[in-house]
Amino acid sequence: MQTDITEYKRIEQDRQKYQSSLQQMNMELYQLNQTLHHLANMDGLTGVANRRRFEERLEQEWRRMFREQTPLSAILGDLDYFKRYNDTYGHLEGDDCLKTVANAIVRVVNRPADLVARYGGEEFAIILPNTPTEGAMQVAQLIRQEVEKLKIPHQASDVGDYVTMSLGIATKIPTQELSAKELIEAADRALYQAKEQGRNCAVAHLG
Ligand code: GH3
Ligand code: MG
Ligand code: MG
Repeated sequence: MQTDITEYKRIEQDRQKYQSSLQQMNMELYQLNQTLHHLANMDGLTGVANRRRFEERLEQEWRRMFREQTPLSAILGDLDYFKRYNDTYGHLEGDDCLKTVANAIVRVVNRPADLVARYGGEEFAIILPNTPTEGAMQVAQLIRQEVEKLKIPHQASDVGDYVTMSLGIATKIPTQELSAKELIEAADRALYQAKEQGRNCAVAHLG
């Protein structure tokens, strides 16, 4: 009888030990999952959201603005003569510049629902929910100024002595006929116009 109780206690202790190590493992798995999720959505170089995250959030906000029938704005920003920057200062210096510019954009874009993402090589995209064209233009101008204020030397630029950014803005209130893709295409056309107009400027797509 005595042996039975001792044996029972030992089994119970073992059971508790296993249970707590299982709980510990669960917690670690959860944290690992969170980290992986974060990394999968982040641009490795600059630390802002990556293209994947951008597309996901764009669709999400498009649907939300459709329900609310309020404007969704998007900004595409592209560094001016950045190929020449790399050719002049080297690719590593170019990477550093991209990091600095990403931080500058994040400083300006500060509403909780806004999203800053690296869209491509030297291109950044910003989603501004519940924001009309005028508001998006203000944000774009602030970004343009913030990049200019960094005063990162760029002797090969035709714009001036420092690194600059051109920006295209588009705004749409979602309808059944439109899609988020068209918002980005419109922002891209506006960006093209900004380049045509001499760079280091922001242009809003109208219509
Ligand atoms: P524009 O003013 O018309 O935008 O000229 P641009 O030279 O910036 O444009 P283009 O598209 O011809 O070149 C983009 C360059 O950006 C190509 C490449 O040298 C550079 N670039 C793209 N991705 C990266 C990156 O991850 N790191 C670095 N260092 N450079 C990059
Ligand atoms: Mg580009
Ligand atoms: Mg460029």
